[in-house]
Amino acid sequence: MQAIRITEHGGPEVLTYDAVEKATPGTGEMVVRIDTCGVNYIDTYHRSGLYPVELPAVLGLEAAGIVEEIGPEVTLFKPGDRVAYPNVPGSYAEYCLVPESKAVLVPAELSLELAAASMLQGLTGHALTHSTYAVDEQSQVLIHAAAGGAGQLLAQLCKMKGARVIGTVSTEEKAEIAKAAGVDDIVFYTREDFVDRTRELTDGRGVDVIYDSVGKTTFLPGLDALRPRGTMVLFGNASGAPEPINPALLMQKGSLFLTRPILFHYIADRKELEQRTTDLFRWLIDGDIEITIDRRLPLAEAAQAHQLLESRQTAGKLLLKP
Ligand code: NDP
Repeated sequence: MQAIRITEHGGPEVLTYDAVEKATPGTGEMVVRIDTCGVNYIDTYHRSGLYPVELPAVLGLEAAGIVEEIGPEVTLFKPGDRVAYPNVPGSYAEYCLVPESKAVLVPAELSLELAAASMLQGLTGHALTHSTYAVDEQSQVLIHAAAGGAGQLLAQLCKMKGARVIGTVSTEEKAEIAKAAGVDDIVFYTREDFVDRTRELTDGRGVDVIYDSVGKTTFLPGLDALRPRGTMVLFGNASGAPEPINPALLMQKGSLFLTRPILFHYIADRKELEQRTTDLFRWLIDGDIEITIDRRLPLAEAAQAHQLLESRQTAGKLLLKP
């Protein structure tokens, strides 16, 4: 089968489209024929080496497809089932070996493409707005990179809960996309001081919570855009990893809360994975939330997908088609 592999860390050029051996399912595993793979920023961290990964590696964590073969003791699925998952390494491929515990059934009303597009960023949105910080109609929220894949979903989920949403973007085009996702107030953080603007927009008070996936350029100033006892949810590093801070800074800035979550600790329990996915799929089927597909590329062009994502040229979901 064909897959996108890395044998060394580096830029998008280290991604190669190779023939690799198709695995046989062991106990509790199944082989899924991939219909659509989702591209996520975390894939670029695995490629660059920012997050550790053993080499050689087939990249990709998220996909949807058809169960082709099951191993011993698989009880949840059978060949022919339509499944999706957010966190199985080796998903930039024609086939992937998937532990049954990590997959969910895709309802008939939902396309495999949308299921693949929604898993990682959608479940992250769910976890961050329901569990990391429970957003409600009183909440004032700042979302960085609000036109991005995760950003658009976060904006829609915060609006579903009745919050007021401020969103940062880099361009006019992205501003329109963020507005369509429900962002109430746009801040151009590339040319405006987002802290001053956020304070102005909240009558000097600051926001209750910041969802920061940008990291290096936004994290530290963001502490000044929070209300006293506000919550900083730092969940990504699109501009690089922020410098370490002294915990006393959180006291000085207003007894702030800081958390650095990753989705996988919010779906490690199968029941939690199923509950969050059930909500997410229902919202998609009912049209309560929408996923913007930025573009679809052939699997062989994964390097181009990484290049586009890292150069801020996307607004929404990037998909690969084996
Ligand atoms: P996005 O679609 O949000 O793409 C990244 C966006 O970040 C860009 O489009 C750009 O928007 C903004 N950005 C700001 N500064 C830079 C920079 N220097 N270089 C590149 N982009 C920049 O990607 P994703 O939705 O896939 O992921 C966003 C972040 O969220 C990533 O860091 C990812 O790791 C994280 N994430 C974390 C999860 C978790 O569990 N913790 C789960 C899912 C995502 P603009 O042009 O408007 O500035």
